[in-house]
Amino acid sequence: MRGGPSELKRFPEKKDAKEAVQVWWKQQVRTVSFWVVLISYVAFVTLVLRGFLELVRGWIPLPPAVHGGIIGGITGGGAVAILQWYWRHRFRYFLRERLNEMGVMTCMKCGYDLTGNESGVCPECGSPS
Ligand SMILES: [Zn+2]
Repeated sequence: MRGGPSELKRFPEKKDAKEAVQVWWKQQVRTVSFWVVLISYVAFVTLVLRGFLELVRGWIPLPPAVHGGIIGGITGGGAVAILQWYWRHRFRYFLRERLNEMGVMTCMKCGYDLTGNESGVCPECGSPS
């Protein structure tokens, strides 16, 4: 995973991080909200974009392959962006929980490394750990 959240780099071993990502996605595909967001997004973008391209086609003639490419590209790229935005903080929360379970002490609120911290308060965000 390129440019993933910093929590992923804090797993003691690469395979632990990999496993955490796999477990996360296995959980996500079982939830209804995952599919609702994904499907409604794709449907929305496809409809809006199709309408927009119909409008453009009135001014500039484009071959159908170009239309398909534009729709596919924007839908696919946008879906990835939306998914990242929507799931990123939930994903990070999940990773922090997993890190804590593994004994890698991490602030649940901001993800700060709490290894060796004895104050019981996160020095980064001030939330109790
Ligand atoms: Zn914190």
